[in-house]
Amino acid sequence: MKANEIRQRFLEYFEKNGHTQVASAPLIPKDDPTLLFTNAGMVQFKKLFLGQEKRDYKRATTSQKCLRVGGKHNDLENVGRTARHHTFFEMLGNFSFGDYFKEDAIRFCWEFLTEEIGLDKDRLYITIYKDDDEAGDLWQKVAGVPPERIYKLGEKDNFWSMGDTGPCGPCSEVHFDQGEEVGCGPDCGIGKCDCDRFLEIWNLVFMQYDQAEDGVRTDLPRPSIDTGMGLERIAAVAQGVASNYETDLFQSIIRYTAELAGVTYRRSEEIDTALQVIADHSRAIAFLIPDQVLPSNEGRGYILRRLIRRAYRFGKLMGLEGSFLWKTASKVIDDMGGHYKELEETRDFMVEVVKGEEESFAKTLDKGLEMLETELADLKKAGADVVPGETTFKLYDTYGFPIDIVRDVAEQHGLGVDEAEFDKFMQEQKDRSKAAWKGSGEKDVASIFQSLLEQDVTSEFSGYETMADQSAIAYVLTADGETVDALRAGESGWMVAATTPFYGESGGQTGDAGSVAAQNGKADVLDTVKPSQELTAHKITVTDGEIRTGDTAFLNVDRALRLATMRNHTVTHLLHAALQKVLGDHVKQAGSLVGPDRLRFDFTHIKGLSPGEIAEVEAIVNRNIFDALPVTREVMSIEAAQAKGATALFGEKYGDTVSVIEVPGVSMEFCGGTHLDNTGIAGTFVITAESGVAAGIRRIEAATGHNAVAWLNERRAAAAEAGAMLKARPADLAGKVHDLQQQVKDMGREMQGLQEKLASGAGRDMLSEVEEINGVKVLAAELEAPNMGVMLKQMDALRSKLDSGIICLVAGHADGKVSVALAVTKDLHDRFKAGDLIKPVAGEVGGGGGGRPDLARAGGSNPDGIKSAIAKLKELVAA
Ligand SMILES: [Zn+2]
Ligand SMILES: [Zn+2]
Repeated sequence: MKANEIRQRFLEYFEKNGHTQVASAPLIPKDDPTLLFTNAGMVQFKKLFLGQEKRDYKRATTSQKCLRVGGKHNDLENVGRTARHHTFFEMLGNFSFGDYFKEDAIRFCWEFLTEEIGLDKDRLYITIYKDDDEAGDLWQKVAGVPPERIYKLGEKDNFWSMGDTGPCGPCSEVHFDQGEEVGCGPDCGIGKCDCDRFLEIWNLVFMQYDQAEDGVRTDLPRPSIDTGMGLERIAAVAQGVASNYETDLFQSIIRYTAELAGVTYRRSEEIDTALQVIADHSRAIAFLIPDQVLPSNEGRGYILRRLIRRAYRFGKLMGLEGSFLWKTASKVIDDMGGHYKELEETRDFMVEVVKGEEESFAKTLDKGLEMLETELADLKKAGADVVPGETTFKLYDTYGFPIDIVRDVAEQHGLGVDEAEFDKFMQEQKDRSKAAWKGSGEKDVASIFQSLLEQDVTSEFSGYETMADQSAIAYVLTADGETVDALRAGESGWMVAATTPFYGESGGQTGDAGSVAAQNGKADVLDTVKPSQELTAHKITVTDGEIRTGDTAFLNVDRALRLATMRNHTVTHLLHAALQKVLGDHVKQAGSLVGPDRLRFDFTHIKGLSPGEIAEVEAIVNRNIFDALPVTREVMSIEAAQAKGATALFGEKYGDTVSVIEVPGVSMEFCGGTHLDNTGIAGTFVITAESGVAAGIRRIEAATGHNAVAWLNERRAAAAEAGAMLKARPADLAGKVHDLQQQVKDMGREMQGLQEKLASGAGRDMLSEVEEINGVKVLAAELEAPNMGVMLKQMDALRSKLDSGIICLVAGHADGKVSVALAVTKDLHDRFKAGDLIKPVAGEVGGGGGGRPDLARAGGSNPDGIKSAIAKLKELVAA
């Protein structure tokens, strides 16, 4: 039975038994900042189990994408070397949220394993928590498991809890006996050894208690079920193979990679490890990138970078040439894209990201490995058995070498790695960059409003409907957040009103500005912030009288600014949609800033946009503006919004209800911002800049409405000014500049020729300077020449005119250097050799040189010695 079929059967079996099939949550957990990656099926249901959230189903089933890196059993260097360590894996699970409990959970589990998969009942063993007799009885009653095959284990193995407090309960595991030959000997047994004979395949968690801070457990009113079965394991058992890597999930990639490398699986341990590492990491890579993890130097991005680099290096060890991981990861999409639709949608993007990362790593890998090999050899010579943390850190810092590669290479040399010391260096670096961050001044908003937040103070937002409203002033605070009765004229601080039309900065949209007129005074609102989802605060400067707590105030948003902001915000949505249309579905918002002056939009895409693509995006957005399309805002449940197909921002937290902004047929996004009610009000749209901000992330800056017109006017004025100077119409400017450039080039060439002519002594009859010394014709002269090349040309010209003699040319250059060229005709070689003469001559200008008997050259650095160099030559000939 193929793994894809097992997954399918699992989900269908539980659907048939009243479970809702829920899609896998992304690999980045949405609500849990403590978790690097989703690592179990229950992660997306955590709030449901805690009773903090309600959904319209009580039973669910999923095939959850999971990733584990680090931790006791998942250190990266194990992955690929053993039968069952993986980074990426799929977790099949069924869940009951206060609905069915132990009896049904056990029945479903048993029925699925024995009837749907057809496992041999006699090879299944059960473990239960030592005090959970209820589960023991049920396994006998419901599944008919004989008591001698039910094992009681302690808290460590069979008790689960979500944290120090909260839901917890006993668990029960199903083990599959792989046969005595797999076992580890006489002491082999469930709960006794760590070998692979009794393979744990399914874990059922019975959440039945609530643990308080003092450790006391009370019964949960509605106990729940959480189960998990790794697809890779059940596939190995169902397919009767000893290693997960031998299942079809991995074999297809392994065979493909082996073919690329021209090697065969199961011939050598080294090759197998490389193939398994590449297969495992290719899966992780193919799944991480669609979930918006991109290679970087920190956090999740760094883990992806480590995976790519580690797999790349194993490929090199096996003899793979060039970049190849994008091919193996693409193969993963071929195999698994049927169930996980997001893979196919981002295939091209994934390929570009991986290829780019492979290529950039290739450049540093050789250098880094060379340095590491040298260090390792030195260490071994010195009798060390660990690589110091400093070495590992240096490799990381200068070559981007992940510690995993150092570990792998060190291991091949029989050395360990001092990880504690490496961590120390990493921490120091982090502290340094943190320190560099600090001192930027202002207190953060949440700490200013700490006391209000503790009291759960909230305010109502009326700004979707109106830009002017009347409300009681609930709190007045100083700039530092101290609550006061009033602020007086000239003072600045904060004001909170029960209801406000001012939009507080959030979701990338800047806060509103405006004014307040209260019973006893007036104030300017400079900015508006949101210390929490439900609280809005105004940053004010009192201009007149007093702003008092309890007074009634009229709050007026600056309409022109707000309208300009709304233009930019609505158009940001149009831009997002247009980018997806032009570049592809992999385009996801990675950041956005919307203010009254401009908009900035960051999105996932590898290459810079071509002028053609920019023009096309601009044209689509403008068409949607000129068509004056309606913009609607609707509040609905998250599920309803998702069912409608609205785009949620990745990793963004949403409440129970969300507002959905829709431009029918064009765009539909979750968004709490303020928007135009018709796209036509945006007027016009121009892209003012396009750039890269990080690997795989591009940024577009743009303007709308009067800002767009102002931007265009500025360019028109600049073009007009340049046109006036060049006496050309703006449309002819490019041609005119091109002509000018050509002219400059021609003139440069002409000047070079003139210089050479000048140096070659066109204006000077040098032969007249020849004198006879000691019966030898000698021409020793200083001349002007820009470089040695020009001087040698001059030398050639003079030699052709002098049948017998010695020529010595010396020139000082603009940079203070001196060149000397010296020639001796053949008939004089028994008396003088150029190579010998030049040494003392060049010595006079602070240099040295040499050459053949007929021609020698030298350089010097002392132009003051030119005269004496010439004198020196004459002296040598005279001697
Ligand atoms: Zn064993
Ligand atoms: Zn928005």
